[in-house]
Amino acid sequence: MAIASNLGFPRIGANRELKWAVESYWAGKSSAADLQATAAAIRKANWLFQSKAGISHIPSGDFSFYDQVLDTTAMVGAVPERYGHDGEEVGLDLYFAMARGTTGPDGVGAMEMTKWFDTNYHYIVPEFTAGQSFSLSSTKPVDQFLEAQALGIHTRPVLVGPVTYLLLGKMQEEGTDPLSLLESLLPVYEDVLKRLAEAGAEWVQMDEPALGLTLTDTQRAAFGRAYARLAPCAPTLKLLVAVYFSDLRENMRTALALPVAGLHVDLVRGPDQLGELIQKLGPEKFLSLGVVDGRNVWRTNLANAIAPVDKAAKALGTDRILVAPSCSLLHSPVDLALESELDDQMRSWMAFATQKVVEVATIARAVNGEKKAFAKELTSNAKAMADRATSKRIHSKEVKARITAVTPQMYDRKSPFDRRKQAQHDALRLPDFPTTTIGSFPQTPQIRKARADHRKGAIDDARYQGFLREEIAEAVRFQEQVGLDVLVHGEAERNDMVEYFGEQMAGYTHSRNGWVQSYGSRCVKPPIIFGDVSRPAPMTVEWSTYAQSLTAKPMKGMLTGPVTMLQWSFVRDDQPRSETCKQLALAIRDEVVDLEKAGIRIIQIDEPALREGLPLRREDWAAYLEWAVDCFRLSAAGVEDRTQIHTHMCYAEFNDIIQAIADLDADVISIESSRSNMELLQAFGDFRYPNEIGPGVYDIHSPRVADEPEMERLLDKALEVIPGPQLWVNPDCGLKTRKWEEVKPSLEHLVAAAKALRAKA
Ligand code: GLN
Ligand code: ZN
Repeated sequence: MAIASNLGFPRIGANRELKWAVESYWAGKSSAADLQATAAAIRKANWLFQSKAGISHIPSGDFSFYDQVLDTTAMVGAVPERYGHDGEEVGLDLYFAMARGTTGPDGVGAMEMTKWFDTNYHYIVPEFTAGQSFSLSSTKPVDQFLEAQALGIHTRPVLVGPVTYLLLGKMQEEGTDPLSLLESLLPVYEDVLKRLAEAGAEWVQMDEPALGLTLTDTQRAAFGRAYARLAPCAPTLKLLVAVYFSDLRENMRTALALPVAGLHVDLVRGPDQLGELIQKLGPEKFLSLGVVDGRNVWRTNLANAIAPVDKAAKALGTDRILVAPSCSLLHSPVDLALESELDDQMRSWMAFATQKVVEVATIARAVNGEKKAFAKELTSNAKAMADRATSKRIHSKEVKARITAVTPQMYDRKSPFDRRKQAQHDALRLPDFPTTTIGSFPQTPQIRKARADHRKGAIDDARYQGFLREEIAEAVRFQEQVGLDVLVHGEAERNDMVEYFGEQMAGYTHSRNGWVQSYGSRCVKPPIIFGDVSRPAPMTVEWSTYAQSLTAKPMKGMLTGPVTMLQWSFVRDDQPRSETCKQLALAIRDEVVDLEKAGIRIIQIDEPALREGLPLRREDWAAYLEWAVDCFRLSAAGVEDRTQIHTHMCYAEFNDIIQAIADLDADVISIESSRSNMELLQAFGDFRYPNEIGPGVYDIHSPRVADEPEMERLLDKALEVIPGPQLWVNPDCGLKTRKWEEVKPSLEHLVAAAKALRAKA
């Protein structure tokens, strides 16, 4: 019989119970016992639900108070020295200290955080030192396995595998390899596996998503070394190595050679690998087939999901098959049943984690020959799929016709940058080293309150609009006083840079409760692109023209770019992402053209998420960058030469995508660079980046107010690689998270630094 299984369930709770409990504990408003009780209740509910739904391999240890990689750091005792770990069990407070740092006179900084593969989930980056040792410092996997046993539920413990764990970490000594620590790390894993076997575990899931990356031979070999040691250490235990987010490609041979009982693969991201896997699997290994998308909100097409499982079952027999979601359901919202505001049709197209678990169970039963029992479900599923394929709500003739009518010329500005530069110079008459900001000003408690009141209906549209106009007027006055050259309206009307536009575009819908963990207690609620995207009416023109009417200085229009809109939404899965992105590009193009028509002379199209869209495999980068760059160009190129297009990106690695950045052909780009001390500018210098560029001169992520000489020094550094006429002066990113007390002196210093530069030039 094929086994219904799951790789991980969201741990935030159906109503984000974990968030509230953790934050209340942090605030000192509740005890550790309260927090543990909430956590135990969430785990219990998750286990009982999965068991009732018919899942046989139910995960345990997928729960975490913050992050599963940090849990692994606690398990193996890899606590950085500054936290003063005594080698004892890592308790809650030490655990949270690593995640968040501590305050007070002896305060220590948090560990670094970064994105988990190509998701929007962030993990705490392990910090290693050469030659360090490891020791068992948390028995969470065993404790939670036993906790489930006590509830009568037999689970499959989940661990982050040792090779992925090391590869995600950072060595403190440059030039050393974290894999050099593998031999000292493995005894801790052996110890945990033995304890799990003793506790009665039968299967253990070892998450090794790193096996889906482009690896060196040494890295590949580490997997063999690790599992040659781990597999025999507890002979009764069956290990399932789980690879997800990518197909195996050249790593397949390595994966199949591991001396483990089973292999999980992601057939949503890599459907084509199945044939080869079946052929090469050998006579004993179990194969776990990830056929339900764990990264999205769409209902699974059951017929399409059953087909590959049937195929594998025919070749291998059902007994060695596991049916699974593609990856942990951590990346899906919890329960569609809580969405009271979605209509029935929309709901019939969707599935959140709770529904996906049921889908997995259904697919397993169907493969096990119970198709008849599920005939009704299969029919209703097929009906919903057919409805989605043809629904007028999803498919717009007009949008499709516009896409077909896109011509090659629409991707290009009228003239090359040289010519545009002159036209813009004449039209804008900006000083050398022009100063500007990235768009948002502080989102004060008053702004948040007004927005919330408006949502609740406590204040009417007219009052809310009046309030926002006053905020904008205030922001304009402030910028004129400080002496900035290119002004912004401050984005007070925006809750979020993607949601704000999503709410005004056709083809988007929004959940009420579709939260997904982003990091720690922070959750995001991505808007959902379900159909063809278009822009029924101007979205920002009124605010921008109002702001422009208050000043003689140029007012910059502010938009979110197509790639970022795509990247930070749940995206429909019935057409390529590139196609959806093109629709977004046309919608934004309409807005850009309307802003120009309304007299806005500078327009910024933010693309902070361009880089994170890069595929896991290097060899897939070029194809992605080609359409991503094209979409940006399509959104921007509808304007006259004299209209200046800006873009903004907030990350610090450009070396490997610098050609694509140049291909965007934005007239001005602003980037994050103050934290790296302008080092990343080297990429632009070496490349001889032709257009204008504003390297952020102070770090907006910190409340610290940088002084004028500091900014001047950074600008001098920038001038070593970027010619003066190309240089802009601006902060690192938007100012919405800062307070006015910080913004005011910071921007005064920034303007002074630009003036000092002009005086020297
Ligand atoms: N214009 C946006 C802002 O200033 C840009 C935000 C971002 O880069 N993430 O807030
Ligand atoms: Zn930014």
